[in-house]
Amino acid sequence: MMRTQSKGMFYKLLNFADSSAIGLAFTEEYGKLKFFINKAFTKKGSIYKIIPGEIDFLKKDNTDLNKFYSFKEDLTYYYFLEYIPLYLRLYLIFEIIDTLYDLEERDSYLFKLLLHAKESNMQKFSVYTVFYMLRKNGINFSTDICDNCAHIFKEEAYLTTSGLYCNNCISSGYIKILNMEDLYLFKTINDPDAFRSFNIDEAIELHMLEIIVGYIEEYTNKKIKSFDNLRVLQ
Ligand SMILES: [Zn+2]
Repeated sequence: MMRTQSKGMFYKLLNFADSSAIGLAFTEEYGKLKFFINKAFTKKGSIYKIIPGEIDFLKKDNTDLNKFYSFKEDLTYYYFLEYIPLYLRLYLIFEIIDTLYDLEERDSYLFKLLLHAKESNMQKFSVYTVFYMLRKNGINFSTDICDNCAHIFKEEAYLTTSGLYCNNCISSGYIKILNMEDLYLFKTINDPDAFRSFNIDEAIELHMLEIIVGYIEEYTNKKIKSFDNLRVLQ
């Protein structure tokens, strides 16, 4: 056991007995962590979600539940909460972190990506980050060739949880049919130079997120609810 600090963002606070809570945060040092928070919902102790800050806590060795002491939010990031379209995208990303990442699976690059989210880049940010999390967790599909027979895609490809298949290799179910334009979009995310000069508007963003989120849902067998909010509310 040791008392320590890490930069982190709370994304979930679940009511516990009295005014205490179980909180989940994504931290720079330790990845996803679970905390027991005394007096989380009192006026004095209330915790901002989504905004990054410094978490002071006791890191426990014998249980997943760490003891929370304090959170000092960095209010220069207040626009994470204020600007709803950005908030909805961050919320989606945290739901995917919750779904794909294990407790204490450290990913400081992802933490850095989150700190760079802003209104002016949010379409690119969401697509890039969600695709990055997929690859980081070993879930990947090629964008040029069939994952089964290595045939180069010339028309549509079939997205399945075991990869992207050509029409000769697809046997039973698939998540989505991707056309050449879709394949081109995904290829662009994989190429840093091409991605830098790539223009993603809202329509392209939602189309790509729909494919990736559908893939994650099929793969993990869990519904990503916040994607519906993003589609409806943004
Ligand atoms: Zn094939």
